[in-house]
Amino acid sequence: MSFKLKPLPYSKDALAPHIGAETLEIHHGKHHQGYIDKLNEAVEGTGDADKSLDTLIETARGDLFNNAAQSWNHAFYWQSLSPQGGGGPKGALLARVKQDFGDVEALKKALAEAATGQFGSGWAWLTLTAEGKLEVESTADADNPLRHRKRPLLTIDVWEHAYYLDHRNERGRYVEAVLEHLLDWQFAQTNYER
Ligand code: MN
Repeated sequence: MSFKLKPLPYSKDALAPHIGAETLEIHHGKHHQGYIDKLNEAVEGTGDADKSLDTLIETARGDLFNNAAQSWNHAFYWQSLSPQGGGGPKGALLARVKQDFGDVEALKKALAEAATGQFGSGWAWLTLTAEGKLEVESTADADNPLRHRKRPLLTIDVWEHAYYLDHRNERGRYVEAVLEHLLDWQFAQTNYER
């Protein structure tokens, strides 16, 4: 058994102009594929070959962890975005946002700060703690909240390869575009209710 790259859940030009087709071509087809290829090379013929990605993230170290987590993180990131994204949470998730952040604008501000404030490569996350509380955080490089016993609800990739072709060095512009136009709150709701 080996890990496989799933197709994007939308066409390559569906997120333009915020994230263009060339970015998705390279980010999905080269970067994400590359992490999966390296993961498969690392587990081939070992006892790790039959483990799930979640198990590898919780237990692996070093490059094996990095490639497992980056494989997971990117699959989750594609699902965190939608051509019909933007807006905000509804229903039970909205009620929880009000409880933990006051309002949706405060949550978006926290996400923007986590995403733009992460020094170097990493990820910004909306997570759910074991106690059922919403948190916003950033992680460095490949790190993933599952490793810290939190459930990811949404993520934003803030590695430069996620935005450089569309926004050059202006990470803040990319983050604002993702928050305003692309973030899929329905996906967050599904993860919240799971
Ligand atoms: Mn990436």
